[in-house]
Amino acid sequence: MTAIIIENATVATVDAERTLHRSGHVVVDGARITAVGAGPAPDPDSDQVPAGARRVDAEGCLVTPGFVNTHQHLYQWATRGLAVDDTLFDWLTALYPVWAGIDAEVTHAAATGALSWLARTGCTTASDHHYVFPREGGDVLAAGVGAAAEVGLRFHATRGSMDLGKSQGGLPPDDVVEDVDAILAATEQAVDRFHDPSPESMLRIAVAPCSPFTVTAELLKRSAELARARNLRMHTHLAETADEDDYCREHFGRTPTEYAHDLGWLGPDVWLAHAVHLDGAAIASLAATGTGVAHCPSSNARLGAGICRTRELREAGVPVGLGVDGAASNEAGSLLEEARHALLFARAVGGPKAMGVMDALELATMGGARLLGRDGEIGSLEPGKLADLAVWRLDTLAHADIADPLAALVLGAPPPMDLLLVHGRPVVEYDRVVTVDEAEVAAAVRRAHDTVLERAGVTS
Ligand SMILES: [Zn+2]
Repeated sequence: MTAIIIENATVATVDAERTLHRSGHVVVDGARITAVGAGPAPDPDSDQVPAGARRVDAEGCLVTPGFVNTHQHLYQWATRGLAVDDTLFDWLTALYPVWAGIDAEVTHAAATGALSWLARTGCTTASDHHYVFPREGGDVLAAGVGAAAEVGLRFHATRGSMDLGKSQGGLPPDDVVEDVDAILAATEQAVDRFHDPSPESMLRIAVAPCSPFTVTAELLKRSAELARARNLRMHTHLAETADEDDYCREHFGRTPTEYAHDLGWLGPDVWLAHAVHLDGAAIASLAATGTGVAHCPSSNARLGAGICRTRELREAGVPVGLGVDGAASNEAGSLLEEARHALLFARAVGGPKAMGVMDALELATMGGARLLGRDGEIGSLEPGKLADLAVWRLDTLAHADIADPLAALVLGAPPPMDLLLVHGRPVVEYDRVVTVDEAEVAAAVRRAHDTVLERAGVTS
């Protein structure tokens, strides 16, 4: 295992006191952080500094905890740039037939591309909400898991699902939905095969029916029972658009949040993607139950869905993290950009005090760690925590004159990245992913894109 000493950098710890060292150090021994503080690293003969450690002089840089992505659909990296002017329901209807053509090879290529780009934009822990399982598609869940291991990111794969086809009143065509019993059996299998609940875990599984308009109440109820019996976290889309709100009132006589509550889908073990259309009662209900929200501002804006009430959610005590969402509704796929957009959108509707730069950094790090149940292990730079961190260079043309390093990171252009460590291992060095060949990954994604479009009979 590597030992690394990062010195002479500004260190944003994102600890409970929001400690910022203007010139500080971080020491990593193997998978864990052993020291963080102001000034130079402790003496080489101290317990905190491993012998033979690599020294990184990070003058001009900002060190932050690695970002935690709490909502994405990795397979969508192969279907970017389609239905670019549609609402969610029209965009989904256009893309379901394309997604019906994915298989393990396409998913592996797309996931490798998406995860590599996440790493390049500061992400060290990724989650994947995979809910399309074509009958002839092979083991698409394992394809994402394999890609995460190759790129080297910490990974929370959710076993997604859809069982409410068009003929039953749902939105997706019947050929992309599965049977409830088959979904639950496959979920159990994924848990047995992949889930590692240990504190140093690089891979966990969560349970994730897709959304109220693509799954039955039975699937939601039984998924929650399975998750709680196996001590797994639960994830779904909720309250994303006004159309979904109308759908829930029409079909269930309730708001999406009331519907989720009645089916056991609120709680401290649940995190919801989007949660844009919430009234005061819904926010109170999320706060009272400790339910988390994965805020995906770019996707919400791309689909014209609305702006999440992050200020009110945070003031009510709701845990909030960030997600890039699937790349088919957010071609940029950058978590740093989500932090920036979270701040800008919160201020656009709530004024300049609605969110600060440290708030935005906290959402991207500790906020996400909380949603995934990992805040004891990742999300901040503190001795004993896992060594997931990013070293951003802030002394180039783009930022050199910005005195506040957090303002430079969150409000400025995306900075060059000198180093990204996951579990103490370098994944990015000097703006290149070092675990995979970026050019090969890009070529594979292009082939995957052509393959799925050809299968769907779509010309791009
Ligand atoms: Zn999504």
